[in-house]
Amino acid sequence: MDLLSIDSLTDQQIAAILDRAGEYFSSDRVGRSNDQLHGRIVFNVFYENSTRTAMSFATAAHRLGASAIALSVERSSVAKGESLEDTARTLNAMRPDALVIRHRENGAPATVAAIVDAPVLNAGDGTNEHPTQALLDAATIRHRLSRTDGLTVAICGDIRHSRVARSNAKLLPRLGAEVRLAGPPELMPGNIVPLTVDEAIAGADVVMMLRVQRERLEAELGDAPGEYLARYGLTSERLATAAPGAVVMHPGPMNRGVEIEDRVADDPDRSLITLQVEMGVPVRMACLEMVISAAA
Ligand code: ASP
Repeated sequence: MDLLSIDSLTDQQIAAILDRAGEYFSSDRVGRSNDQLHGRIVFNVFYENSTRTAMSFATAAHRLGASAIALSVERSSVAKGESLEDTARTLNAMRPDALVIRHRENGAPATVAAIVDAPVLNAGDGTNEHPTQALLDAATIRHRLSRTDGLTVAICGDIRHSRVARSNAKLLPRLGAEVRLAGPPELMPGNIVPLTVDEAIAGADVVMMLRVQRERLEAELGDAPGEYLARYGLTSERLATAAPGAVVMHPGPMNRGVEIEDRVADDPDRSLITLQVEMGVPVRMACLEMVISAAA
């Protein structure tokens, strides 16, 4: 089985990943080595920059006894013009047990999955999906608020370019949460009924802020310094309108002072941003274990 999208997973598989991740997290087995995937090889192929996802997949593989091998794309034959398909055929010939891919083009992981025999996991494709991020977000919410069912999650910012928003908008409603999407009109996809950031945040249990993906913008936003934060960012004043005890999330990397104010990002009681990173390892352990065991 491949993990290309949230749609790749049945409700039972989603529940199994979240439960397994919870076990790894709470028993602290994430901090110790396990041998479920002893001797297996996981290829990490990242065509776009990554800190959290790349390190977290590699750590997850090692925590399960597998070896993670990263292709430095910028120093590979990709720089000599090799096509994605030829690179996939080449990597497949080495018989990895799983291949994790991030790519700037929507659908690239599916192209690779059609060629590679081993399970392929999407670590983010263009503006399309980032399924393991959504799974770790759900696991983080569940860990902190004990449930996802019945919660309201406001996802705010650059929705148009966000694969994180797209995967969460698929996953969280399947777990019983209501998702509200909001952002500057020029950063909202055309098919979404627009909400203002203030409307989305009012009464929300979870406020998830997104980075403005300036590298994907065709034209500059043209915002003056401080303007984005004032109009659309998460300030303490805006957070005060959310539900009592509301928590703050961000997939990272953060543009501090743009979509989120420092004191909100660093609030030890409300911010789950570091917990999200921590949860990434057990969630990816559960994903790797599931797809590799299914292939065995
Ligand atoms: N790290 C996330 C992603 O790769 C979010 C972001 O880059 O803003 O999609």
